[in-house]
Amino acid sequence: MRRKIIAGNWKMNKTVTEAVNLVQEITASVGTDANLDVVICPPYTALCSVRQSLVDTSIALGAQDVFWKSSGAYTSQISAPMLVDLGVTYVIIGHSETRGRFGVPEVDLSENHMKHFGESDETVNLKLKCALAAGLTPIVCVGETLSERTDNNTDSVVTRQVKGALSGVTAEAGNGTVVFAYEPVWAIGTGEVCATDEANRVCGVVRSAVADVWGAAAGEAVRIQYGGSMKPDNAAELLSQPNIDGGLIGGASLKATDFAAIVFAAGA
Ligand code: PEP
Repeated sequence: MRRKIIAGNWKMNKTVTEAVNLVQEITASVGTDANLDVVICPPYTALCSVRQSLVDTSIALGAQDVFWKSSGAYTSQISAPMLVDLGVTYVIIGHSETRGRFGVPEVDLSENHMKHFGESDETVNLKLKCALAAGLTPIVCVGETLSERTDNNTDSVVTRQVKGALSGVTAEAGNGTVVFAYEPVWAIGTGEVCATDEANRVCGVVRSAVADVWGAAAGEAVRIQYGGSMKPDNAAELLSQPNIDGGLIGGASLKATDFAAIVFAAGA
């Protein structure tokens, strides 16, 4: 029985004051459940303040990214030891809003949602290794774009991303810690949720890829979230699927009642 995990990704939303208000609403409305992990990932600027509000709760603090060097001349970057020092225990790695396609940096300012900060399978792998070395729990995002799906490349893309992330990472280092999030890019922030059966099937593809790298037992044990327009009204169905062990929640994590309803659905 895998322990479910619900994580809220606030993205680039909330000033410090707004973040404190939101986390207080969340802690007041999210019930505790011993069989469930709940994580909140505010922007870097609010990590410290949100942490204060999470003291004496069972909700964990996560960051939305990490750089793979510990320190040095890397202007703008934040390292894993810096996050650990702030009380962060989880980190999102390889979100589609930071990935480039096939490792090619690509910034499309014409899109409403600027994405693609040039993250590649290789940088995801470096970040995963440094997160594990620092004792952080990585949430590694994988998922296909709409054109990759239309071209019937979903399974190969997701498998490539999983295996790329785990390249050179031993089961001893990562099994039992690394969490994956299957996030079809076309479902993120669009309101278009992946069909339940299909979300479960692709999470199974992620599981098989982990099993190929670390062995069958690790494939069975790895926790895999679904992310992409998960809301209170679709959460229970998605979370009841055998291969789906939780949710990575964007938009709905910015509203305490919606986030609490999804947490409730995961525990129910
Ligand atoms: C996300 O950003 O990881 C995400 C799943 O966003 P949303 O829930 O808004 O689709």
